Amino acid sequence: MGQRGVTVWFTGLSGAGKTTICQVVEQALRAQGHQLEVLDGDVVRENLTKGLGFSKADRDENIRRIGFVAHLLTRNGVIVLVSAISPYREIREQVRQKIGDFVEIYVSTPLEVCEQRDVKGLYKRARAGQIKQFTGIDDPYEPPDNPEVNCQTQQETVEQSAQNVLNCLKSLGYLDQVPVLQQI
Ligand code: ADP
Repeated sequence: MGQRGVTVWFTGLSGAGKTTICQVVEQALRAQGHQLEVLDGDVVRENLTKGLGFSKADRDENIRRIGFVAHLLTRNGVIVLVSAISPYREIREQVRQKIGDFVEIYVSTPLEVCEQRDVKGLYKRARAGQIKQFTGIDDPYEPPDNPEVNCQTQQETVEQSAQNVLNCLKSLGYLDQVPVLQQI
């Protein structure tokens, strides 16, 4: 018996903690022998969706392509960790419907906290008008209605958030089997 695939989709503002939590979840799953792949928004935009901008159409196309790849991997038994702002609810829902085995993680850090952290200095530049269409500043973010997990990083540690994600995957039965090496 192989592993059951699933797409674990982290959504939230820039600097909310998606990548950070994702990395802790990744380490824990690898240590347990799970087969996984990570699709990080920043990396994807340098490769798979290079050239796309930040209009609603381009953001939706970015998510559609990430969803397409995540679907291929998921149906082949891979645990796919996606971390992308993915600000629009409708396209996230479309991807969920298509993939089926889809778990949504809302990293709900408030704008003020993200802006205070300003890990990449992007909020400062957005406030100064140097970056346009920045999510949370002059572009919308639509929170999920029913995420499987809500990571409230302003009041929990990275480890607690990661543990909540792992507990959710376990309770949904996605961690019951690890891949078996095929004997040739
Ligand atoms: P995103 O991927 O959502 O843009 P990052 O993970 O790159 O966000 O950045 C989040 C920043 O917030 C990191 O510098 C991280 O160390 C910090 N941080 C502080 N507290 C937390 C927490 N409880 N959970 C996640 N990140 C946190």
